[in-house]
Amino acid sequence: MMRLLHFSKYWIYIILIIIIQLIEINNYSYHLYYYNFYKPLSMYLGILTGLVSFSIGDILYLFFIFYVFYVLTTSVFYFTKARVKKVYLYYCFKKICHFSILFYCIFKLSWGVNYKNRIFENIIGNTSETYNESILNSGRIYIVKQLNLLRSQIPDSHILNLNFNKSIALAKHELQNTSIQNGACKIKKPILKLSSFPEVVNLFGFSGYFNPFTHEAQVRYNNPTLLAPLISVHELCHQLGFSSELETSCIALYISLHSQNKIIQYAALIDLYFYCIEETIYLNSKIIHNFKNKTKPSWLEIDKLIIDEKVTNDLKKTLAELKQQHTPLGNVIGNYIRKIYGFFLLLNNESNGLRSYNLMVGWFIKNYKQHF
Ligand SMILES: [Zn+2]
Repeated sequence: MMRLLHFSKYWIYIILIIIIQLIEINNYSYHLYYYNFYKPLSMYLGILTGLVSFSIGDILYLFFIFYVFYVLTTSVFYFTKARVKKVYLYYCFKKICHFSILFYCIFKLSWGVNYKNRIFENIIGNTSETYNESILNSGRIYIVKQLNLLRSQIPDSHILNLNFNKSIALAKHELQNTSIQNGACKIKKPILKLSSFPEVVNLFGFSGYFNPFTHEAQVRYNNPTLLAPLISVHELCHQLGFSSELETSCIALYISLHSQNKIIQYAALIDLYFYCIEETIYLNSKIIHNFKNKTKPSWLEIDKLIIDEKVTNDLKKTLAELKQQHTPLGNVIGNYIRKIYGFFLLLNNESNGLRSYNLMVGWFIKNYKQHF
């Protein structure tokens, strides 16, 4: 009986891996999976996790960390007993293999399976747009003009009163009501929660994250005020079934720029503007030289002649809020975590690693260059 159980367990693994591969390579299988598994799974998890305001996913992560700690400490105890070393090593190896395969399958199936969302590809299109310095400059100037225009239409009090709770409410409302692609991008029950460990998340250098095991989108309460709306929409777009960071950034930007709400549009453009600056610095060696040892506020020198005063003040405030979050310890830990995370992205077919987030700039240029 035990042998039969073992046999069936291995078969389950093999079948699961074959299913995942089929979904990855075949469009029809992907559609079947998305509408019959991913969407219902996300909806039911949303109903379940929506019953409480705190993050269930964060608690699960905490339990997992404690469990790993427990296993490691008991392992050290067993390893000291030379007699059982060999048997115990084999036992550990088997356990780790079982856990890894199961973790891989559950993670893949609940995280949208692959890094190419084929349901919304007519919106996203090809994300591998390359751009040179000249078109990037034109794009950045267009963004500045749009920022100036939008800011002149938004009352100061709306910017002043924007806070974490309002950003979350705006993002949820956006995903519940977006009319993009005849409402296909709508989420009936968007789950967006406050991260339970914002300081740790900040130390790791993340603004928000999506938990594929509970389908909760989470953001830090202390994100810069004007960046929070796009960060919140981005995390909710993972809930929609986007796995790739580049695609998620593009769809979040698309939804935000098509919003009826000017704050959402303005906040998305502020975020996009910063990514444009980073890309400008990345592409222009002369600017790199000038900016290498300067702090971020110097970014505002690049377009200072064309940015309106109110927009400049908003950008200054955002940069100051970003600076406030940086701590010496966070910089050291964040650097290591960014390297590990960049490697994780590379393993998941995001060939640009951490730069994947910046490359939504290319998508923007491709789709909006007729206005430049
Ligand atoms: Zn993301």
